[in-house]
Amino acid sequence: MLLFRDDSIRSDFNHDLQRFLYGREYRVEELPFSKETIKQHVRKGFIALQHGIETADGGLLPFLSGGRRWVCRRCGNTDPELFGTCTCGRCNRSCAYCRRCLNMGVIRSCTELATWIGPEPRRLSAAPGENGRLCQWSGILSEEQAAAAAELVRCQSEGESFLIWAVTGSGKTELLFPAIERALLRNERVVLTTPRTDVVRELFPRMKAAFPNVPVSALYAGSEDRIPDAPLVISTAHQLIRFHRYFDRIFIDEVDAFPFHFDPMLQYAVQKAAKETAPFAYLTATPPPGLKNAFLRGDLRGIKIARRFHGHPLPVPRFCWIGNWKKSVAKGLLPPAMLKWIREKTEAGIRIFLFVPSVSLLRDLTELLQREALGPTAGVHADDPDRHAKVMLFREGRIRILVTTTILERGVTIPAAEAAVFGADDPVFDEQALVQIAGRVGRSPDHPAGDAVFFHNGRTLGMVRARRHIERMNEEGGF
Ligand SMILES: [Zn+2]
Ligand SMILES: [Zn+2]
Repeated sequence: MLLFRDDSIRSDFNHDLQRFLYGREYRVEELPFSKETIKQHVRKGFIALQHGIETADGGLLPFLSGGRRWVCRRCGNTDPELFGTCTCGRCNRSCAYCRRCLNMGVIRSCTELATWIGPEPRRLSAAPGENGRLCQWSGILSEEQAAAAAELVRCQSEGESFLIWAVTGSGKTELLFPAIERALLRNERVVLTTPRTDVVRELFPRMKAAFPNVPVSALYAGSEDRIPDAPLVISTAHQLIRFHRYFDRIFIDEVDAFPFHFDPMLQYAVQKAAKETAPFAYLTATPPPGLKNAFLRGDLRGIKIARRFHGHPLPVPRFCWIGNWKKSVAKGLLPPAMLKWIREKTEAGIRIFLFVPSVSLLRDLTELLQREALGPTAGVHADDPDRHAKVMLFREGRIRILVTTTILERGVTIPAAEAAVFGADDPVFDEQALVQIAGRVGRSPDHPAGDAVFFHNGRTLGMVRARRHIERMNEEGGF
């Protein structure tokens, strides 16, 4: 009798509300349902409400310590500088609010955050093709890729996290396919996340092509390819902040990339989006110290891939001194050594990435190059509204010289393009960034080599380390 009553209560909920809230976290006032409906669901145990801001000594987030008073439950902020207080019109008391995630709507002490704790909605499943497979990618993994893919699958089946430390151009994405396919066949929710919008845009069509029968959702600011409940999600780390204990598998691409590496909010968002037991897979060519050390100590399982998928070595960057480059540009002059290099490349029909340390320099240099009429030239930076269109034109070959800030240092693959850094001694270009930039070159089997030139006014530790890093990887790769 009791069982029967229990069952009837368990199914007595609003299915739209369930689908809306499951695996997400919203402020109560954001839910498009009546207050009465929400109250009912709270009473019956389908929805949990928690305060938006907790005091750390409440013991709710045990990893916090040391004199910090507040914790924002939505974004994980614990920095006292990033909280304010106000006389709250809602609770008529002095209320703390979080400044860090303010742009998503204010979180105060009296804000209630709702999560779904009732039954799970039916999962949107993926239909295997005629061959019983979900993955229709017809390529063949290299020996190194195949070994890494198998190890990743094994590790994930044991519920453990995994590091893939793979050189640029090693085909990291493809080696994820077996693990992703396995998870999808088990009806699990999978997210492939990365800090960069450009990387999401690059990965999305490749994933859709590889898994044609799987609903794939792309999440980034302004994305038009959002599918609710899609079992496979490609997302910026930023967009995951709305999720709560949702994904069974998390793959993080470019884990060392700015801003992920520096922004604790993004790390919190990714952690919160994962189910408690979800294994993580970290992908990177240049692991940040924490991951690298955990791997070298044996605390984190993983694999190192020192060869590119096409079996050719990584292009080793060449240093070229050009004197005071800032001064030259200010005078409206292009350093002759660089001009000569660019002319040779464009005359040979080669497309060029030209990396610069700042947006102001980008504008000046782009203008100078356009004046030289070496070929169609454009500049792109993070806030450029035409950025995606320009990358597309560069991909199609209609732009021949693309001047860019470090936003395109990774994730973007243009076959047969070559790369140079203008002002490689600028502190923006650390070892990681320079390794990534050199990694833009020689990506396709038809053009496995090419120039990576660092134009500079004095070698830096970052430049020397980047070159050593690449040489060492080539040695490990057997070259
Ligand atoms: Zn209040
Ligand atoms: Zn916050």
